[in-house]
Amino acid sequence: MRRISIIGSGQAGLILAHSLVGRGYDVTLYSDKTADEWLHASRPTGTAYLFAESLQIERDIGIDHWSNTMHKGQGMHVEMPLPDGSLLSIVARTARPGGAVDQRMKFHRWMNDLDDLGGRIVIETVDVAAAERIAAQSDLTILAVGKGDLGRIVARDPARSVYERPARNLAMGIVTNIKGWESRSGITAVKYSKLPFGEIFWVPFTHKTAGPSWSFIVEAIPGGALDKFGGAASGPEVVETVRGLVREFAAWDEENVGAMRYVEGDDLGWLVGAFPPTVRQAFGRLPSGALVVPVGDSAITFDPIGGHGGNNASHHARHLADEIIARNVMPFDAAWATEMWERYWESRGRHAYRFNNMFLESDTPGLATLLQASARDPRVADAMLGGNVMTPRNFFPWIESAAETESMIAAVQAQWDVQRA
Ligand SMILES: Cc1cc2nc3c(=O)[nH]c(=O)nc-3n(C[C@H](O)[C@H](O)[C@H](O)COP(=O)(O)OP(=O)(O)OC[C@H]3O[C@@H](n4cnc5c(N)ncnc54)[C@H](O)[C@@H]3O)c2cc1C
Repeated sequence: MRRISIIGSGQAGLILAHSLVGRGYDVTLYSDKTADEWLHASRPTGTAYLFAESLQIERDIGIDHWSNTMHKGQGMHVEMPLPDGSLLSIVARTARPGGAVDQRMKFHRWMNDLDDLGGRIVIETVDVAAAERIAAQSDLTILAVGKGDLGRIVARDPARSVYERPARNLAMGIVTNIKGWESRSGITAVKYSKLPFGEIFWVPFTHKTAGPSWSFIVEAIPGGALDKFGGAASGPEVVETVRGLVREFAAWDEENVGAMRYVEGDDLGWLVGAFPPTVRQAFGRLPSGALVVPVGDSAITFDPIGGHGGNNASHHARHLADEIIARNVMPFDAAWATEMWERYWESRGRHAYRFNNMFLESDTPGLATLLQASARDPRVADAMLGGNVMTPRNFFPWIESAAETESMIAAVQAQWDVQRA
């Protein structure tokens, strides 16, 4: 039986571990925290709103215990103030619901279940020396450490990474007593206000004890008017700062969120920080020369702005599981690691990364054209924005140019006219 070691117990590591245990692999998962520590003494990695396609990955391997009962999102609702004082408003429905389920609750259950299914779990903060020991005992060693320091074993790919510094300073928190936006959008959606100095998101969330709730994410352009969270010391403090920012800069949302409260009984339901979007190489080598392969955030780190990091972690983990199984008894060597990484990069990684990064940039005429057309025609919003967001390669290549985006929209609208005639 091939021995696979996975370092890290987040979305990517646990999906990979469950996929391989289910196929009879000898899997050891190394985690810097126990299942109980995940549930009771950890922050979530992020909000992690997952699209239906990503939830399907969990369903396929028998570890989806929440999507039927979670606080569901039916699409996106974008509002953007225009120079004349009005609001550009877009509602884009997705064909199937998504949701953000508290990662701490998921990983607690997935770790306990992995143990019951025959996976081995070792609680250890793995350093380079420990990684050497692990690699010497394994046919393949996977780095699923998220943005953790051990990930630096794998070199950054400067050409693909694009960014050298964080494009946004981030604040995230979990809140209750949100009125929602159904009266304006008709659906429960990921609500997104685009401002000149960053973005404020409101995401339907399922908290580990409070249940249906919301998570906000503030994406502050460094040094701009939303960049107010640097010294934050508590969740309630972050919430008060967001309340003030909404009042000052996104007053149209005040009636929806004005009465929000920081989630009760959870001192760790908030985050502040910053990191640059980063793409790494296909594999890294330990000092001994042993090979390690990254997955999830350890391979591609996404700014949360487009909600693709957790979705990527799920898709990348599934891809890696399929590649490991297809490799059969052949060695997991550098040539294999490079080829299978390129297959992932070409099929999903690069499109998700580029589409996500477009929201960080001020000059993206193709995306601007799509957003304006979506505001004018709800069918365009549903089909071309909501319909494609789960499958980012569908946006390419046309979204790279305003003219091609216009042509694509015209072609799709003409098709609808033919169908109606
Ligand atoms: C504010 C914010 C909001 C977000 N919102 C969304 C969203 O709406 N949708 C979306 O798709 N994505 C979102 N993301 C991104 C998403 O949360 C991550 O992409 C995803 O959780 C990455 O999963 P992962 O398994 O790769 O890494 P992680 O979830 O970070 O897991 C890594 C694990 O490795 C462990 N570890 C680290 N170092 C070691 C070590 N040396 N030894 C042992 N264990 C170790 C860590 O403790 C952790 O358990 C958001 C991120 C942020 C910051």
